[in-house]
Amino acid sequence: MLLKLENIGKIYDSNDILTVGIRGIDLAFDYNEFVTIEGESGSGKSTLLNVIGANDTYEEGELYFNGEPTSHYSESDWEKYREKNIATIFQDFNIIENLTVLENVELALLRLDDKKERRRRAKELIARVGLTEQMNRRGSKLSGGEKQRTVIARALAKDAPVILADEPTGNLDQKNSQEIMELLKYSNREWKQTTLIVTHDENIALQTDRIIRLEDGRIVSDEKNR
Ligand code: ADP
Ligand code: MG
Repeated sequence: MLLKLENIGKIYDSNDILTVGIRGIDLAFDYNEFVTIEGESGSGKSTLLNVIGANDTYEEGELYFNGEPTSHYSESDWEKYREKNIATIFQDFNIIENLTVLENVELALLRLDDKKERRRRAKELIARVGLTEQMNRRGSKLSGGEKQRTVIARALAKDAPVILADEPTGNLDQKNSQEIMELLKYSNREWKQTTLIVTHDENIALQTDRIIRLEDGRIVSDEKNR
């Protein structure tokens, strides 16, 4: 099992006001799953992704990665976990606007010491997401769909086993949304990551293999979609 969540809870405490983010979450994800997380606004979707991606801590339960418990992790363990295991795609296209597509993708490949190899690999990823022609264009000059493709190229550059996508098509029109979905599907088939997609869009949910629904921080359904 790639990921296992056992009775996971996250409670936010801001100025002594406690809010339940998620509560009593039991979930397991195998290798190469393609999953939707859905639910009303405030139901805990982002919290769940943030806990899995270690952008948020959890206070209750245990998160296992490849069978290894993580509740004892130090900050540097979490840093390694994020670096090695998790690639994220958010709706707000978090790319660097004054760098080109190529430079943005190369930044995700700094682990490669050889500059030439880094460039070669970046170009390969850019071709995969269909941006070869726009490779030398700055982030600020890209359309929303092109920005999101750049983000996906960067996520794939990490070669992480888990891709977390929080409303990856939330700022895109229908045509661009579908193109991004095709890319996520293709990458899931070819590179065997486990992909978790948060979405409000039923049309997107129906293209995934499993749909998990949250309400008030809890799981209310978890069903195979095909
Ligand atoms: P969703 O992504 O489904 O809209 P969230 O996971 O963002 O839901 O939020 C779940 C609950 O946790 C909501 O009640 C929200 O107000 C609360 N919450 C989320 N982030 C924080 C935070 N940083 N501080 C306090 N409360 C938060
Ligand atoms: Mg959210």
